[in-house]
Amino acid sequence: MKSFPIEKLATLVVGEIVPSYSPHDSAFALNAVPAFDPFEYRRSALTEKSIVTSGTDGAYPVLRLRFCSLYPFDARNGQPRMFLPGQSVEILARIGSQSVSRYYTPVCGDLSAFEIHVKVYPEGRMSQFLRKQGPGQRQFKVRGPFGVPVIDPESPLTLAAHLPEDIVFITGGTGIAPFLQLLQYIMLPVLQPLTVLTPYEQTMSDELTLSRGDRVVTQDHYLDGWALGHNLTTGATGVFPLSVTSPLNGPRSRLTLLNAVHTPQDLIGLDLLEAAMLAHPDALEVHHFCDRGSGSIARDGVVGTVHAGKMDNTAVADVLADWAARILGGPLWNALAVVCGPRGFDGFAVDAVTELGVDGRVVRVLPADRVMDRM
Ligand SMILES: Cc1cc2nc3c(=O)[nH]c(=O)nc-3n(C[C@H](O)[C@H](O)[C@H](O)COP(=O)(O)OP(=O)(O)OC[C@H]3O[C@@H](n4cnc5c(N)ncnc54)[C@H](O)[C@@H]3O)c2cc1C
Repeated sequence: MKSFPIEKLATLVVGEIVPSYSPHDSAFALNAVPAFDPFEYRRSALTEKSIVTSGTDGAYPVLRLRFCSLYPFDARNGQPRMFLPGQSVEILARIGSQSVSRYYTPVCGDLSAFEIHVKVYPEGRMSQFLRKQGPGQRQFKVRGPFGVPVIDPESPLTLAAHLPEDIVFITGGTGIAPFLQLLQYIMLPVLQPLTVLTPYEQTMSDELTLSRGDRVVTQDHYLDGWALGHNLTTGATGVFPLSVTSPLNGPRSRLTLLNAVHTPQDLIGLDLLEAAMLAHPDALEVHHFCDRGSGSIARDGVVGTVHAGKMDNTAVADVLADWAARILGGPLWNALAVVCGPRGFDGFAVDAVTELGVDGRVVRVLPADRVMDRM
């Protein structure tokens, strides 16, 4: 039998894949990936579910839910790579014969994978529906982000207008979610360059040595005060203590939280609060006000001061006296007070802040933790 010439096989053309576009045609690149549209629904699945608080003394339970996009590689041109503090998503589900949609505030992630805290109301259509779902059971439609962020993402990071340095949040219930967004944005940021304020000499081989003024891009957080990062100045990659760096909004960053809950058992976001406190203990001040269960205010792992009793105008004035004094003497753009809580709570909180003599223009009300007109 005559053997098939191997050289012929090497040059044999069976077929050729010809691109149906010219690589030089710039219109192709634009057309291939559609532009990002926040009003376009993306299909997601619930992938993780845990109970954050089980609900005590008449409070409602809170769940932590993780959603992942079913088509993560189907990203759009210009798709935001993170949620900005103050932004929410709309989740739409088929419940019975109806489509029901509600807004939720992702505490971390982006459109391809994010986590929300959901307070479960006894008669709540969506929250009860989510409570009954198991991971991977059905598809949800998600779109967004919606809402005007509390920061100006268009401004360069070096401009103070990007983010004030002295920020107060007054929150109630799941209204703490936008605070947790901001906390991570400025104290536990990912893929953002942080400036080194205090030199650090490595003590282990996997650590970074840092000099004052170095810029370190964080890649991962361990939530124990340490992060993995890449030193842009030296080119080295390793772990480093966040406490030697400046928060993203500057070395004079101050973040104060006044958080209203029923009991300490209702507190959410404690892992993030602890991580931020370990990273920047001098820049973070946390107060929880518990209007019920005052006899049992002790709870392990609570970060901040727990006050027995309702958050009222006097309590706000006591905690914010120093903040008010600082901002009354400074420029308006460097201060921000964000209010986020159930209906009725925002009116009280805005009054309490403006009673301190603070200009109302520094106060911003976010609509989370409330029912909004349905779409
Ligand atoms: C911008 C934005 C962001 C939000 N982010 C979050 C979030 O991160 N986590 C979260 O849990 N919720 C959040 N919400 C509220 C959420 O959108 C729903 O309104 C909430 O989950 C209730 O929906 P439901 O279908 O379970 O209740 P519904 O069926 O709409 O209401 C059923 C019953 O529950 C009562 N109820 C509903 N909501 C409240 C409330 N807030 N306080 C007291 N009673 C209530 C109603 O009065 C009604 O009697 C946000 C809302 C907005 C507008």
